[in-house]
Amino acid sequence: MVDWQRVRAVVFDVDGTLYGQRAMRLRMARELALRCLVRPTTLSEARILRTFRQVREELADAEASGIGRLQYDRAAERLRVPAARVEEVVEEWILQRPLRHVRACRNAGVRRLFSALRDGGRRIGVWSDYPAIAKLESMDLSADAVVAATDPEVDRMKPHPAGLSRVLEILTVQPAEALLVGDRDERDGEAARRLGCPYLLLAERPAQAREFAGYGDLLRGLAGGRD
Ligand SMILES: [Mg+2]
Repeated sequence: MVDWQRVRAVVFDVDGTLYGQRAMRLRMARELALRCLVRPTTLSEARILRTFRQVREELADAEASGIGRLQYDRAAERLRVPAARVEEVVEEWILQRPLRHVRACRNAGVRRLFSALRDGGRRIGVWSDYPAIAKLESMDLSADAVVAATDPEVDRMKPHPAGLSRVLEILTVQPAEALLVGDRDERDGEAARRLGCPYLLLAERPAQAREFAGYGDLLRGLAGGRD
């Protein structure tokens, strides 16, 4: 149940929250497979991406700092390739190529929800473990504050709440006056709990009361003052 009377700002996670991650993974797997046929070295690119993602999960679990470099250096060490090679592959396959697909994977109702929040005088924040500005532009969305884990003043991945604190600071909103919308309880939910910020988790099959199946629920709640 969202108490919309108290909510002055809504902060959104990006991957899996503003767009569907399963749809995106399918599209990227298809691109990678096509590239493999043309250029077999792509197989090693797939390995680099898998290791890079593992390293990111470990850094998030450890709540490590210095992640801007560590994420590449640690993966490179493990793979025995130069860090510049990891950076190049991540730039292409994680930061650039998904931008072509993210609009098509955008979750239904997101744009309408953003408009409804603005109409109600509420501010919108975005908080992601990956750089989010280009993704938002590609999804045709805009926010009042956009923060990424690798921003120098944050330098922590979820569930460390540094990024969420930073968004709320930019929006000049207290945690109790905000609502975090995410998709992972052990990352988004945990960070919100630590700060005392109300949150909702987008679920494919809602099993718990605080989970919701789509933005239609939130829009209806917003229109009626509660959900
Ligand atoms: Mg997510």
